Amino acid sequence: LGRKINGALKSLTAESVIDEKVLDDILREVCAALLESDVNVRLVQNLRKNIKQIVDFEELGGVVNKRRQIQKAIFDELCRLVDPGVEPYKPKKGKANVIMFVGLQGAGKTTTCTKLAHHYQRKGWKVCLIAADTYRAGAFDQLKQNATKAKIPYYGSYTENDPAVLAKEGIEKFKKEGFEIIIVDTSGRHKQEAALFEEMKQIADAANPDHYIFVMDGTIGQAADGQARAFKDAVPIGSIIMTKLDGHAKGGGAISAVAATGSPIIFIGTGEHIHDLDPFKAKPFVSKMLGMGDLGGLMETVKDMNIDKNSNIMKTLESGVFTIRAMRDQLAMISSMGPLSKVMSMMPGIPPEMAAMGEKEGGARMKKMTCMMDSMTDAELDSDAKCFTLQPTRIYRVAKGSGATVREIEEMLMQFQKFAEVIKTMGGSKGLLANMQKAQ
Ligand code: GDP
Ligand code: MG
Repeated sequence: LGRKINGALKSLTAESVIDEKVLDDILREVCAALLESDVNVRLVQNLRKNIKQIVDFEELGGVVNKRRQIQKAIFDELCRLVDPGVEPYKPKKGKANVIMFVGLQGAGKTTTCTKLAHHYQRKGWKVCLIAADTYRAGAFDQLKQNATKAKIPYYGSYTENDPAVLAKEGIEKFKKEGFEIIIVDTSGRHKQEAALFEEMKQIADAANPDHYIFVMDGTIGQAADGQARAFKDAVPIGSIIMTKLDGHAKGGGAISAVAATGSPIIFIGTGEHIHDLDPFKAKPFVSKMLGMGDLGGLMETVKDMNIDKNSNIMKTLESGVFTIRAMRDQLAMISSMGPLSKVMSMMPGIPPEMAAMGEKEGGARMKKMTCMMDSMTDAELDSDAKCFTLQPTRIYRVAKGSGATVREIEEMLMQFQKFAEVIKTMGGSKGLLANMQKAQ
């Protein structure tokens, strides 16, 4: 989906004249892509209508301005599609809040309920887990292991095989002990089938949850719509957590899931470990879906870190001029930020091959690139690299100084152009920064 929409947006950049017809063509492509991804027809029609309303040809200025407005309109609409504008669920202090997890087998329920328990525990809540999955062999052991590691109290049984009884017993026990958040993990099936929904309803009757969280595998693509609908029909879903968004999945199913349930996505799962649970934010999510890279997420990481150390990056982002020095600093920052592949996948302009190279190889390549840049003069570092085109002898000098081949220097400069291009197409980083501040 992202690739298609991105293609449509790219074709927009290629057009020199932008009129109604061009807009119609682009919208047709975007809508076809959304429909193909099982997004509700009505929503797609709305998207088209809204964008046509927003883009006013009379009022638009030059070609560049029109392009930006159309891009922004499409971007904003997609953000609206993944954000139903519903206040996310908040557990109440001074009572036992029961949260029930539902979803297909393998969606990531057991993994995610421990992640969520850990999230609340860190915020000072008294949290516990109940394993009400008697369908999958080893389900209790899995939850027990996760919970023990995270030091979260749990309840389950090797002998009782009625999940509704387990849920009831566990809730009674934990309520007596004054727990504030009780998370009930349930079983799934490979498909959405009657037996699963029957079981879910029985557990729901016994547990009487305050909140239902639907866990959906982010890699399922077109199946998202039917799956979300089926679960919504069985229980009153309150929130969605999309998992497995750490790989190549761009999460196009999110639009369908939100449309089908009317519920907000509260978190996304970005790995198998307990910390791999990120709060959902529409803008970075949509930019990643469109293949622009998760600039928002990256910016937050930047903010979390020592800003002084990265002031060059902040300066460049603010001025909108991307220099080689900024790229060097960005690479240096990445190396200090931990799991390389995860950080790389958030960076705009990093080719997927490089992000997928793995820690060792990717790290070695980054080191090499940094070494090349360290052989440049200050003036070269503070430039947009045009000086290398104007005076190719500079390339030979840098190659010699860094022990790299001329070809490698050229490749590095091409990489730099890609980075710079992304920064430019995002409408200048000033706009981006402003947008992010608005989002907070
Ligand atoms: P359940 O059947 O719904 O309880 O699913 P599980 O929690 O057992 O997860 C199924 C598999 O998906 C396990 O191997 C998990 O480690 C894995 N998994 C869950 N969430 C994520 C995620 O966000 N990213 C990745 N890469 N794997 C995940
Ligand atoms: Mg499970």
